[in-house]
Amino acid sequence: MPIKTAENTLKVHSIESYGTHDGPGIRMVVFLQGCKLKCLYCHNPDSIDTHGGEEHAIEDLVRRAVNMKSYFGIKGGVTVSGGEPLLQSKELIHFFKRLKEEGIHTNIDTNGRVLNHFTEELLDDYADLVMLDIKHMTEDGYQYLTGAKNKNTTFTFAKHREASGKKMWLRYVLIPGITNKPELLHAMGNYFKEYKTIEKIELQPYHKLGVHKWDALGWEYKLNHIKENTDDELKEAESILKAYFKEVKIN
Ligand code: SF4
Repeated sequence: MPIKTAENTLKVHSIESYGTHDGPGIRMVVFLQGCKLKCLYCHNPDSIDTHGGEEHAIEDLVRRAVNMKSYFGIKGGVTVSGGEPLLQSKELIHFFKRLKEEGIHTNIDTNGRVLNHFTEELLDDYADLVMLDIKHMTEDGYQYLTGAKNKNTTFTFAKHREASGKKMWLRYVLIPGITNKPELLHAMGNYFKEYKTIEKIELQPYHKLGVHKWDALGWEYKLNHIKENTDDELKEAESILKAYFKEVKIN
């Protein structure tokens, strides 16, 4: 179910003005409120509740982005992240259409769980870049990590973007003992190796920066026993994936 907002508004969790980790160049990152997954490592668990967030007029967000244009340079622009931005696909079409009219680069950071005609229009016509989070290559692993069924929804989403011929980056959180196993990395490489639209894969090392937010929500953080990646683990994952992807970046 999409999130209901007043016309021409988006439900926003927070805004970062000079983001450098969510797409190319310097970016205004709009974190949208609401997500249907509950990933065990989520850094923004307070963005999950679909009833939270604050409504912002799309035209105000466009104005803010236009004021930042000189900082964006050639590469930068606006990224929508979350939460899961595509729960507000219909409103995002309007937002991205306006940004494109202003000559601003657009990017969506998504878990790829929403694919309807609004999302398709957004992907095909208005999103210059999509950063797609691959959670796990097995159904059991996917369900354990996200609390949701059917990992294949994300792969259908990837196929759709590939068919559009427009750029995509993959993102993958490298969790020791859960997602960093060589067989899973090879499976991911084999699955995507023929994709022409994937420019790179970004590996996100596992860390516990969001744990205090889980505590604040009174939610149990179930990955407390997992340690952060060692340098060797990161290098091993990078070297496996380099056989399949043009560029592998450790964030
Ligand atoms: S998809 Fe992203 S926002 Fe949603 S629960 Fe997972 S990590 Fe958090």
